Amino acid sequence: MADVLSKESRHRNMSAIRNRNTKIERCVRRMVYAGGFKYRTNVRDMPGRPDIVIRQYRAVIFVNGCFWHGHDCHLFKMPETDTEKWRNKFRRQIEVDKQNVNALIDLGYRVLIVWECSLRGKDRHTPSGLAERIEEWVLRGAGLGSIAALKSSNPGDTHKL
Ligand SMILES: [Zn+2]
Repeated sequence: MADVLSKESRHRNMSAIRNRNTKIERCVRRMVYAGGFKYRTNVRDMPGRPDIVIRQYRAVIFVNGCFWHGHDCHLFKMPETDTEKWRNKFRRQIEVDKQNVNALIDLGYRVLIVWECSLRGKDRHTPSGLAERIEEWVLRGAGLGSIAALKSSNPGDTHKL
């Protein structure tokens, strides 16, 4: 019985995390839209099904939840039950993310990772500050960029595993 309950509450937690990720994706879309860029969302025929693709600028944006993508920041916490299973899951996700980024760069796209912690939590950017950084990157950013929490010691591509 105890196990059933804990499974149910875990399921609720995971759903809550997924919904939050959808919310931050919408938020980033609004910023891109406000920047005047034409974009497509959830583009299925590109590696990793990017959240946002701005073809005119050969730019792709992923909005990554810090939990699912194992980001090295204050929002990531390793689950205390089934830890090994989770660790392996995160490692696989990180590997898939890397392969997708490389594939997109090979196709001639630039890739920006916007981490959840840049929008949520104690060290988030202001909405206008974040919008500016995204716009700046779309216009002039390097091949692979990332935006994370303001005080992050890890500006992007490091993971907790
Ligand atoms: Zn993060």
